[in-house]
This record gives sequence, structure tokens and C-alpha cells, in this order.
Amino acid sequence: MRADAVSKFYGQREALKSVSFAAEPGEVVALIGPNGAGKTTLLSILAGLQEASSGSISVERGDVGWVPQQAAVYRKLSVGENLRLFARLEGVADHEAAVERMLALTGLHERARDELGTLSGGNQQRVNIAIGLLADPPALLLDEPSSSLDPRQRAHVWELISGRAQERGTTVLFSTHDVGEAERYADRVLVLADGELLFEGSPVALEEAVGSRERDFEAAFVRFLRERGH
Ligand code: ATP
Repeated sequence: MRADAVSKFYGQREALKSVSFAAEPGEVVALIGPNGAGKTTLLSILAGLQEASSGSISVERGDVGWVPQQAAVYRKLSVGENLRLFARLEGVADHEAAVERMLALTGLHERARDELGTLSGGNQQRVNIAIGLLADPPALLLDEPSSSLDPRQRAHVWELISGRAQERGTTVLFSTHDVGEAERYADRVLVLADGELLFEGSPVALEEAVGSRERDFEAAFVRFLRERGH
């Protein structure tokens, strides 16, 4: 997956300023940056939901899986019905096989008939991610996949995402405000601020970039932004 000099204007406002990066198969990349940095804009362009104003993107062959911040699921339908509905909408060849695969992947076989709205936040998010994976896409984009989950649920959700990258070589790009999570799960972080890509490298390299020893990765990240005027 790559972006070459991608810019996006909303009227006069430049939400992305010539952003370029590449992610390899099996790589997990975190997109971090302050509110309004352009994270969702970049993800939605890569997901094909909106066009860049200039520049180009290229994604792996096949559809890109998209896990939006606001899940498009139906709380009154069961887990299985949601998966079946989205398998149809996405034109997945064998719906039933795909639904079975996703129930197995999420460990939610026993909840298949339960209304989605009755599941815990963590399990609902597993369904949301499973919907993004229905077509077995070579790349998966997730917008703040674990916000509002408790630490245990978050760890479960990450087992699912990391497992996919390791076992199937899925390229994963996710945004988060939890920079500790980026440090823990990402091979590489992209730091975006005011539409500009300020840094691309490992979490350790970001800590080294600020030179002085900060207490933790989050403190190093805040210092990095401050030193660059954000
Ligand atoms: P957050 O962390 O708060 O979710 P973000 O990094 O995802 O922010 P974006 O949602 O991509 O940032 O927004 C980038 C900029 O573009 C912001 O200034 C935002 O107000 C603006 N913006 C986003 N979507 C639109 C839109 N549809 N129309 C106009 N401006 C928009």
C-alpha cells in the first residue's frame, strides 16, 4: 500500500499536504497525531471512500478492508445476520463460508444468534473488524479500532488484528490517539500534524529523534510535536 504526494483540500482548508508513505505486506503501521491532523482523511482516501485532490495511491490487489470509527452495523440484527448482510453487500462469493470463517476468527460462534447490541463493546468491535475482513482483503484500514475499550478487550481486539498481519500477511494501517498502543502493536508509526507527515519510523526511532530520555513513548511523542511547533 502506498501514497504518493497525496493532498486533500476541503474548500480552502488543506487537510493533507503532499503525504507520501509505503507499507509492506504483513506490516502493522500506526497513524498518530493531534485532533484534526488528517488521519481519518488519509484512511478514507486509501479506503477509496473519497478522492485525493492531487497525488496518487496504490493499494494491494483486491479490495481494501475498512473498519470505520462509527461501525455501520445493525444493533437489532444478530451477529450472524450482520455478517451475512455485509457479505452480500460486499459481493463476497460464498456468503455462508465467509460468515463461518468470521465467526471462527472472532470466537463468536456461540453468540451468532444474539442481537449485536447485547454484546460487550469489545465483542461488537470484533464483529466490526470481522466485517472489514469478510472479503479476506490484502490490506486492512482501521480508524481508532480500540477507542472506548477496556485493556482486556483491547488486547483481544489486537490479537485478532496482529494475527491477521502475521498469519496472512495482511497490511494493517490504523489510527489511534492511544500512542502507547501504537508503540506496543505497530512496527512503524507515521506522525501526522496539520496534514503534514512529520515522521515515519519505528517507535524507538521516534524516541531517539527527541534525543533526551523522556519518561515514556507518549512523553517523547508530545515533545516531538512541541519541538516541531505543534
Ligand atoms: P481526529 O483525531 O479528531 O479524528 P483526524 O486526524 O482524523 O482528527 P480529519 O478528520 O481527517 O482529522 O480532519 C482533518 C481536517 O479536515 C480537520 O481540520 C477537519 O475539520 C477537516 N475536515 C475533515 N472532514 C471534512 C469535511 N468533510 N469537510 C470539511 N472539512 C473536513
